[in-house]
Amino acid sequence: LDFLANNDPDIADLVQQELQRQRDHLELIASENFTSAAVLAAQGSVLTNKYAEGLPQKRYYGGCEYVDQIEQLAIDRIKQLFGAAHANVQPHSGAQANFAVFLALLEPGDTIMGMDLSHGGHLTHGSPVNVSGKWFKVCHYGVSQETEQLDYDQIRELALQHRPKLIVCGYSAYPRIIQFDKFRAIADEVGAYLLADIAHIAGLVATGHHPNPLPYCDVVTTTTHKTLRGPRGGLIMTRDPELGKKFDKAVFPGTQGGPLEHVIAAKAVAFGEALKPEFKTYSGQVIENAQALASQLQQRGFKIVSGGTDNHLMLVDLRSIGMTGKRADQLVSGVNITANKNTVPFDPESPFVTSGLRLGSPAMTTRGMGTTEFAEIANIIADRLLNPEDEAIAQACRQRVATLCAGFPLYPHLSIPVPV
Ligand code: PLP
Repeated sequence: LDFLANNDPDIADLVQQELQRQRDHLELIASENFTSAAVLAAQGSVLTNKYAEGLPQKRYYGGCEYVDQIEQLAIDRIKQLFGAAHANVQPHSGAQANFAVFLALLEPGDTIMGMDLSHGGHLTHGSPVNVSGKWFKVCHYGVSQETEQLDYDQIRELALQHRPKLIVCGYSAYPRIIQFDKFRAIADEVGAYLLADIAHIAGLVATGHHPNPLPYCDVVTTTTHKTLRGPRGGLIMTRDPELGKKFDKAVFPGTQGGPLEHVIAAKAVAFGEALKPEFKTYSGQVIENAQALASQLQQRGFKIVSGGTDNHLMLVDLRSIGMTGKRADQLVSGVNITANKNTVPFDPESPFVTSGLRLGSPAMTTRGMGTTEFAEIANIIADRLLNPEDEAIAQACRQRVATLCAGFPLYPHLSIPVPV
């Protein structure tokens, strides 16, 4: 890091400020986490210099003897973690992984079925602004208005009506268990491929805290940077080696060029960490902490979509206190809490305003916080949102956030020298 400070003080200074921001804020964005220093080191290594188009032992470039071993380790570890027969660790992101799956399995004009963005789906599951919504016909399912949870009978009806070639399950803002066996039955009935996008819950699945989709789905995609706590990136897994070859081709040369071997090394490090017993303990704590946060918010009178959470995230429905997600986001951010506004199912507000706040526990659990701290976080949020005009309370909330952050240091040994 000395090199950065001496070579480019502007960037070094901004990196330093970002480190300070991460240290000083309560990070509750459900899709974020803090990787280990080992993951950071692998990603910031000389591997960034290497071109390695192709796959281990089948490259289009020379000099791949070490990156071959690194990528093979990443593949072997992720297969072990999820019980997959085949894995491709090259997708640069979750969106790239999904795009490659679509290229492998679909033709433009085919019908896909995924959850509506406003109910918790992802842009890549058929949103009209994404290639998945532009190139394919899309039928969207949502959650039941009554339970705010998946209604498998409704999904089956919709599938029978639209006969999709591919069904997507797995979401960005769904707090409940997904029953992959029920999706399999529906997919079989209509002859559809089944894709589980477990971007959010991968760490929970890997440690047995959520059912594993691999036995039921034709293909599973994920990001590596959320509950899995690796570097930013994506990957594709399947239990069918023949399909696996199609996904390999769809990644390269189908949708990507050279793989990011420095990121793949960081993925391998994170997968190694995820195979250790400590990661299972961590993942269990992520869920306990989310439940503590949800239950204390409920105690304080907030409505939690679907009545609680089974995983790492929750949606606070702010309509009961007459506030929008946008306003709530501004208020909590003013006391150094980072979260994001989010639509709730059947939201009357636009996606820019919304009626919800999405909160998640992975990042602050990584910092070492437990249920006591998460109950305090709920109280800080409640005190701020229930007293939006009270500057004295806001100041007290900022102090409480600072006290929590100080008690659980982030990257204590990391600092970026200021250039002289
Ligand atoms: N799929 C789901 C369910 C997600 O929640 C996300 C990201 O939030 C993605 C895919 C896309 O991942 P990325 O941002 O790495 O492209």
